[in-house]
Amino acid sequence: MLEEIPELSNPSVLMKDPQRVQEILESMMKAGSNTVQVISDFDMTLTRFAYNGKRCPTCHNILDNSKLITNECREKLKELLNTYYPIEIDSARSIEEKLPLMVQWWTKAHELLVQQEIKKDLLAMVVRESDAMLREGYQLFFDHLHEHSIPLLIFSAGIGDILEEVVRQAGVFHSNVKVFSNYMDFDETGVLKAFKGELIHIYNKREGALLNTGHFQELRTRPNVLLLGDSLGDLTMADGVQDMENILKIGFLNDKVEERKQSYLDSYDIVLVKDETLEVPNAIMLYLT
Ligand code: C5P
Ligand code: MG
Repeated sequence: MLEEIPELSNPSVLMKDPQRVQEILESMMKAGSNTVQVISDFDMTLTRFAYNGKRCPTCHNILDNSKLITNECREKLKELLNTYYPIEIDSARSIEEKLPLMVQWWTKAHELLVQQEIKKDLLAMVVRESDAMLREGYQLFFDHLHEHSIPLLIFSAGIGDILEEVVRQAGVFHSNVKVFSNYMDFDETGVLKAFKGELIHIYNKREGALLNTGHFQELRTRPNVLLLGDSLGDLTMADGVQDMENILKIGFLNDKVEERKQSYLDSYDIVLVKDETLEVPNAIMLYLT
């Protein structure tokens, strides 16, 4: 395997076809970093899944756990999480079976959040007080992509306003970063009244991508894609890319490892098992630039 990327021999790295990974990387390297774009999921991909044995929050969880929510509402949101998260990661159910249930989860959670009359100007505080953490190595990841003018699309079924605040507070919301996500809609007094646009949940990222053809049109000179995700739904994030030449898919396998390992190996080129760092994506990015 590529001697230039020793990180690919880390114990957390699994590959079904290392030869193919090598070919994709060599082809992308030859084409040059000015032909590359990065498309990444946010929750549990750019952010940590756990820290010191404790689960880290998703964008939604940051709000769920905050003092902007009444105790009664928090209980309901927790119940939803306990009902639907096991379904999300259940390897025994097909995507077709899960899809309507995921729509139910997001819809019910957003309805509850809207009832809470959340104030826009308190979101920064809530994020600051949360346990949200970007993965180790995030600084190099964001800074290096910026220095090399490589566009980074963060494509998230989380909450855009929260996500942006996490990235901003980490000091890495650079000009090369673009976000597709669920954004909150506030009234003129700054109170949450709805969510904007079409709902993005974990299994309709393809549709989300196709609604944003303008973005991919602008990036048509970058047909080489590095995709980062943690769910099988994230595999369709690059479906809007025009004239794609190469795609290297890197998947974080955080939870239910044994049950899901085979399906991740079958669909991601590189699988990172319980790896809380961006070490491997960073090594690949350094190789390409
Ligand atoms: O950024 P990403 O697309 O990964 O965001 C989706 C994640 O948000 C899902 O993996 C899901 O577990 C989580 N979620 C949540 N609470 C909700 C809805 C989704 O924590 N109400
Ligand atoms: Mg995710």
